[in-house]
Order: sequence, then structure tokens, then C-alpha cells
Amino acid sequence: MLGFVMNCTVASAAPTAGTGGTTAGAVVAGSTADDQSLQALINGVEPKVIAWRRDFHQNPELGNRETRTAKVIAEHLKRLGLEVQTGVAHTGVVGLLKGGKPGPTVAVRSDMDALPVTEKTDVPFKSHATSTYRGETVGVMHACGHDSHMAMLMGIAQVLAGMRATLPGNVLFIFQPAEEGPPAGEEGGADLMLKEGLFDKYRPEVIFGMHVWAGLPVGEIRYRSGPLMAAVDSFDISVKGRQGHGSSPWKAVDPIVTSAQIITALQTVVSRNVNITEYPAVVTVGAIKGGIRSNIIPDHVDMVGTLRTFAPEQRNLILDRMRRITEHTAEANGATAELTVEPGSAPVLYNDPALMSKVLPSLQRAAGAEHVKEFAYVTASEDYAYFAQKIPSVFFFTGVTPPEQNADAAPSNHSDYFYLDERALPVSMRAMTQVVLDYLQGAGHS
Ligand SMILES: [Zn+2]
Ligand SMILES: [Zn+2]
Repeated sequence: MLGFVMNCTVASAAPTAGTGGTTAGAVVAGSTADDQSLQALINGVEPKVIAWRRDFHQNPELGNRETRTAKVIAEHLKRLGLEVQTGVAHTGVVGLLKGGKPGPTVAVRSDMDALPVTEKTDVPFKSHATSTYRGETVGVMHACGHDSHMAMLMGIAQVLAGMRATLPGNVLFIFQPAEEGPPAGEEGGADLMLKEGLFDKYRPEVIFGMHVWAGLPVGEIRYRSGPLMAAVDSFDISVKGRQGHGSSPWKAVDPIVTSAQIITALQTVVSRNVNITEYPAVVTVGAIKGGIRSNIIPDHVDMVGTLRTFAPEQRNLILDRMRRITEHTAEANGATAELTVEPGSAPVLYNDPALMSKVLPSLQRAAGAEHVKEFAYVTASEDYAYFAQKIPSVFFFTGVTPPEQNADAAPSNHSDYFYLDERALPVSMRAMTQVVLDYLQGAGHS
């Protein structure tokens, strides 16, 4: 025992130890015999889930390169007797579990890719993998926890496959490559899976997803109805002046001074133009490049940045303001400037409010009501948003920071010190399995 007892009301004297000996199965107040048998099934598969997760962690692969990962997943799904499709959007794997009773198809998604990060944790299954990214040799690490997402979805598939005879409907397990974005010049991810006809073929009625979250203690679940995660746009601003000698600026048009004014003026878009009581927004200039030496006023300056928004109208308003500020500030300086938005912006991740209210009791049943809370808006983005644009969806976060640690100080997702407490796995799996089962069982008579 690790002394980990969830703060929720523990029904009996002691929580059931997981068969892996690494966790305490959560027994939630008011749990029924059904709840307890589901928990026992989750606990039964937990040692395998931990082993899969460590194997993925030690063998991480970047987006669109998840070939070994895909093989491990496909072999497992085939062994369970699922209808398996591989090579979806390059390296994606899809498995269909057909229930013994009629009912809808519910999709559940896990991402597969790791990040170009050199791992600095000291876990025994630490990654030493390297790969090539943007022409450079980089370390590769599952620094966003997608290793755990895959392992958990494989575990959930095993649990649900074990009850297929009584399952009223089908479950579509989607293992999606390149969540963090495909390599430059390649297509990939959720968008490509949809373009290849994933939903046309399997026609899921709803889709569910979850993400492990550092800074949130193990056992905690967070959700939000409506917009949850931001839409992201990358933008370029190119400022053109006229080159000249640094000693006689009156003979030149200085794109550096113009850029400084543009950057400062862009700060007023969110603070002066956006209704921040409705949705937050972020405008960040992340890189600026111009000039070569101290006494030359350069010909041009290039900037790149990111925009995060939560509604299409808000996005349009901000882009319009940014464009006007960019062009007119340049004009006032005798320069010209152009704002370009790169194609392929990710949409807002939207949780369907009706489905969210339907799913909330399942999350509460699985994790204990006091551990399931509404989350703040998340200004990061998720490729899953493409799936959620097509059919009603719920996406939620699950905590992975050791409960005895200061959650605020935990290294975030994408950090080279990102750490996942494996005690998060059974409770997260239980939550997702409960969501799927309750949806299927309630679908016919709601
Ligand atoms: Zn990530
Ligand atoms: Zn992620």
C-alpha cells in the first residue's frame, strides 16, 4: 500500500488493493455491486496497462512515425477479436468492438505521438530515444502523457471486450497519430483521419476523449461544458521599410521601430477590444527577426506569433483588429506590413452541453462527486477538436500529480520533467469506461 486513499468517502474500511500492488482501487460512496465488479475488472487489467505504458514510454515515436507503437496496439486489438484497421492517417489504428445487443456506436480516442523533448526524469523506464526533427537530432519523450492514453485505451478495450455479449452497441477505439502536429510538409492527425472517411465508415453517434494533466492531483477529474480548449492560429507579420545607414535614420524607413510599435499596439487587442467577461483570448508574438549589425537599419522585419480564441466571432474580431493595427501602424511610419494567418488552424474543442450533462453523473459515479469539478478555460489546443466538430463530444482532464506533492509546482505537460503518477491510471480508466457503458446502456431509453 502506498497510503493513497482518495479523499472521497471510502465505503468500507480499506480500499481494495489493485492486483498490480501499485494502487488502491477507489471505492466511491454509494457504489453498487455493478460498480464494484467494474472496478474489479479495471484492477485486473491494471498491471498490463502499467506495463504497456512503460513500454510506450521507453519507445516513444514522433507524429506520423508511430510505427512500432501502432503495431503493439493493433496486435492487442486483434487478440481481443476486434475488427482492426491500420494505416489510418499514416500510422493510426482503429478497432471496432461489436456488442452482442443492438445499439449505437460510441467512439473513444487516444493520441499516439511523443514530443521532441529530451527526458530528464529519473524513472527506471526513462526514454533514451532520439529522432530527427526539423533537420536536428532531438531526444524523444512522451512528455504529454500520450503513452498513458494508449495504454489505458488498450485496457478499456480489454475490459469492454470481456463484456461484449451484453454490450448494447459498439465501441470504436480510435488511436490517432500526430496529435501534436504532423512534421512540416505532411498532413496528419484527426483532420486527416476524418478526410480519409473515418466517421463515414463507422458512423459513431458520440465521441469521448480524456487527457492526463500535470498540476492536477491523482483522482481529480475536470470538465467544462461548451468551449473547453482554445482554437489556435499561427500568424506571420512581415514589415517592410527602407534600408539605410544607422547614423542617418531620416534617410531610411525603420522597420524595427515600426515593429516595436506594432507589438506594443497588439497588446491592446485583448485588453481593449475583447469582451473578456465572455471568453478569454491570447495574442503572443513569439519570435522577431530583423537586422544584421549595429549601424544598419534593415530593409524588413519578420515576426511570428500565436493566437488563442474560444469562439469564431471572437477570432474574427481579433484577426480584424490585428490586421488593422499592423497595416495602419506601418503606414503611420511610412512602412508597409502584412499579417498572414497560416492555414490549418485548429478549431475550438467544444463539449456538447447536452452530452456533458448526460455524462457528468458517470464521471461522478466513477471518481466521487467531490473529485469532479468544472475546469477553467484551457488556452492550449487539442487536435481532437476536429472530431468534436463533427459529432457531439465530451473531453475531460484527469489528474496525474502525486497527491502528496505540491500540485502547483508540478512540471507541466511538455516539460522534460513531466511526471505521471501511475495511480492515476485505474481511476482514469474507470471514469472513461463508466462514461462509455452508461452511455450505451442509457442510449436506448433516454
Ligand atoms: Zn501535448
Ligand atoms: Zn497531449
